[in-house]
Amino acid sequence: MIRIEHLSKKFGDLVVLKDITTEITKGEVVSIIGPSGTGKSTLLRCLNLLEQPSGGNIYIDGVDILDKTTDVASIRQKMNMVFQSFNLFSHLSVIENLILAPVKLKGMNKQDAQTKALELLRLVGLAEKANNYPDELSGGQQQRVAIARCLAMEPEIILFDEPTSALDPTMVREVLSVIRRLAKEGMTMAIVTHEMDFARDVSNRVLYMDEGIIYEEGSPEQIFDDPQKENTRTFIQRIRCYTCRISSPDYDLYAMNAEIEAFCEKQILSKKSQHNLLLLVEELLQLYRPYLKTMALDITIAYSEKTERLELICESAGQKGNPLDSQDLSDDLGLMIIRNLTESISYQWLNGKNRLQLLIKTNLT
Ligand code: ADP
Ligand code: MG
Repeated sequence: MIRIEHLSKKFGDLVVLKDITTEITKGEVVSIIGPSGTGKSTLLRCLNLLEQPSGGNIYIDGVDILDKTTDVASIRQKMNMVFQSFNLFSHLSVIENLILAPVKLKGMNKQDAQTKALELLRLVGLAEKANNYPDELSGGQQQRVAIARCLAMEPEIILFDEPTSALDPTMVREVLSVIRRLAKEGMTMAIVTHEMDFARDVSNRVLYMDEGIIYEEGSPEQIFDDPQKENTRTFIQRIRCYTCRISSPDYDLYAMNAEIEAFCEKQILSKKSQHNLLLLVEELLQLYRPYLKTMALDITIAYSEKTERLELICESAGQKGNPLDSQDLSDDLGLMIIRNLTESISYQWLNGKNRLQLLIKTNLT
């Protein structure tokens, strides 16, 4: 239904979309997720021709919509958009908001438009408010009116740009329920959202956008349960990191410990986990000590709010070799402490670096 090929968009020197290629087929519900500022809104706005793409092609039912001869108004009817801020006309009643475009743009007669509008208001649960003005409605109700207004143009696809992010938490659900219902009825939709549980159960496919591209895409299960790429994992599992570089044996241990403690407190880790983590870092640094004269060590502490996994990652350039494997360490006390504090330890030689990854036990008493 929609095919996007090598779409790019720049604002001056700022490259927002680098190279987007994907397809949305009829009846599909596609969620678009990703950090702020990665061009999710820009992508929807390009589809709807609210922005002129810098390069690439967009086809709707095989028709190239970037062709100069394309009728922009008819494209926007086919592919109508619902915005974060509902953009209702405040001087018009609810039903007048709904019949305006069908009468003006589609040449529908007023009577028919009104009948249809009431039907749509019933669908979104707001028939009772037909003659009210937008400012007499709650945010959630206004957004439902905006959805009904969008449907009044009988679009073949609806683009939602964070439809609930301007709403109080209590009103999010009523709007999501309406969108869920449209999904059940087979409406084709592309939804930019930060509501992960919603994205998971409403969509057929999830696009994770980052770095100006569709960084990873897949079924909701693939993206939410088993993301393959690092940025996706960081985003989905809400991973928070602390990093520090140690570049001499005379590093400031007290300053580093204080920073780690501050990080732990911010992530609300238990005192016990915090204590174990500090002990682990100290023991590891003992092991690395002989190497610190000649190479820098990067320490990363990563905590996932979602899975509650706490990991310590040590990366160092130089000679390949796992510092925990050294012969003379076999009955070392430090190594025993390290093993006791961790669920698992993995070593990799990756991109010219020794990478030691330790999964820390957080259930120790
Ligand atoms: P998202 O919706 O993923 O948060 P946006 O598409 O809104 O991201 O924005 C992506 C980037 O493009 C941001 O850095 C934003 O500042 C920039 N941007 C968006 N619209 C414009 C514009 N009209 N002019 C200049 N920069 C813009
Ligand atoms: Mg946006």
